[in-house]
Amino acid sequence: MMTSNLHFIIIPLMCPGHLIPMVDMAKLIAQQSVTVTIVITPRNAERFGSVLDRAIASGLPIRILKLKFPASDFGLPGGCESVDDLPTFNLSKNFFDASATLKQPLEEMFNELKPKPSCIISDKNLSWTSDVAEKFQIPWVIFDGMSCFTQLATQYICVSKVHEKVTDFDPFILPGLPDEISMTKSQLPGLFNPGNSAKAKEFKKVREKIREVELGAYGSIVNSFEELETRYIDEYRKLKNGRVWCIGPFSNSNKNDLDKAQRGNNGSLNDHSCLKWLDSQNTRSVIYVCLGSLTRLTPLQFKELALGLEDSGYPFILVVKGGGKTEDIEKWLAEDGFESRVKGTGVLVRGWAPQVLILSHRAMGAFLTHCGWNSTIEGVCAGLPMITWPQFAEQFFNERVVVQVAGTGVGVGAQRVMYLEEEDAVEIQVTKEDVCKAVRIVMDDGEEGEERRKKAKYFKKMAEKAIEDGGSSHLNLKLFIEDIMLHTNKGLAG
Ligand code: UDP
Repeated sequence: MMTSNLHFIIIPLMCPGHLIPMVDMAKLIAQQSVTVTIVITPRNAERFGSVLDRAIASGLPIRILKLKFPASDFGLPGGCESVDDLPTFNLSKNFFDASATLKQPLEEMFNELKPKPSCIISDKNLSWTSDVAEKFQIPWVIFDGMSCFTQLATQYICVSKVHEKVTDFDPFILPGLPDEISMTKSQLPGLFNPGNSAKAKEFKKVREKIREVELGAYGSIVNSFEELETRYIDEYRKLKNGRVWCIGPFSNSNKNDLDKAQRGNNGSLNDHSCLKWLDSQNTRSVIYVCLGSLTRLTPLQFKELALGLEDSGYPFILVVKGGGKTEDIEKWLAEDGFESRVKGTGVLVRGWAPQVLILSHRAMGAFLTHCGWNSTIEGVCAGLPMITWPQFAEQFFNERVVVQVAGTGVGVGAQRVMYLEEEDAVEIQVTKEDVCKAVRIVMDDGEEGEERRKKAKYFKKMAEKAIEDGGSSHLNLKLFIEDIMLHTNKGLAG
């Protein structure tokens, strides 16, 4: 069988942090002459349209299967087809339930897909896709949007139940890991630390189901690369009978500025005045601050962040994502006169920032990130030292990867996860002094700062090599395709 007879069905969770890497992944797989169908809803097809159209026009065998998303049937606003469109994260469960209705139309289309599908690569959060794979007797491979560090830590916490034996803020050593790394329960992801709200309890069941189904997957694709977290990948692969394929970093698959700029949102290069401003800045001087696509800081917490950046004295780009709190944030900005005070040295970006393009600019000095895994690995690819401010989910694990495993970052000192549905939290977790201090430590010219920058450059080089011909991720991708090919051949023979 040749790779051109293979057909991989990619089913992303509709949320930027999941869709973006899976669209990149689709391109990487299609570059190996494997036909790829990406299952997506109309609005997301529009949002990612230019990137996908260009990939298809370049000759890659990518197809788009559009399925209608029943937003209004589930109490969601019309056109809300991505988690970052939700007016409040209290509607997340509705969103998940609406996504599960795609199962039936997908099954109805399945036999028409040509060549015959060879496997499903699904976001692991969409458990219902495992039933589809079972029905059509093909492997259910999960895309794990996280690191192998996270997977390994999750596995050992599940087995040891250490989280049930500790208090919220007393540090404990994460069991079973190759390095001695400590955490507190309050920093653990929702599976172990769900919070106390009624919504949190509802979500606990969803998470447990996801975990249970995930354990039955044929294998996992991971957006990471061997050189970044070698021992964690080795250990995790052992646990999973070898079926863990690290084929990242996906973001490096975007070679031209337009693909980089339109990653996650259509828009022209000219829409981004911050890029012109960056051109006017000194090399390695600017801090880029973005807390991902979902984090909504409270106005009080936003204020600490903004003032801390101002106090640091370094030029910065600050991406503002206020969601339902936008009005209050704008009110503070106007009353305080922040924007006019920092004019020339600080730029606010409202809405979607072309993150990968910004990170690759020569003026970038450091990345203040919430440690979503995509942002983390994009920071690694850009060769930048990082200032880490984890917010939710597994982001504290990712902080440990950056600060302790890779040694390229400094934490602002966040102590606990924020719950996305906890929209009215008033507590200030991180003060302007914390922000200012961490920025200055990372930007410092001294020995430690240099060491971090040196390590960051090393990982950038390794990331580039990994997806080149003969690189570790390139090899892993070939091994993955071969595995599916063997599996398919066996099926045909049997
Ligand atoms: N992103 C972007 N512009 C923004 C916000 C986010 O390009 O204004 C991209 C970012 O580059 C990353 C993704 O959105 O690829 C966010 O994923 P991540 O896992 O870092 O965090 P999440 O949004 O899931 O919390």
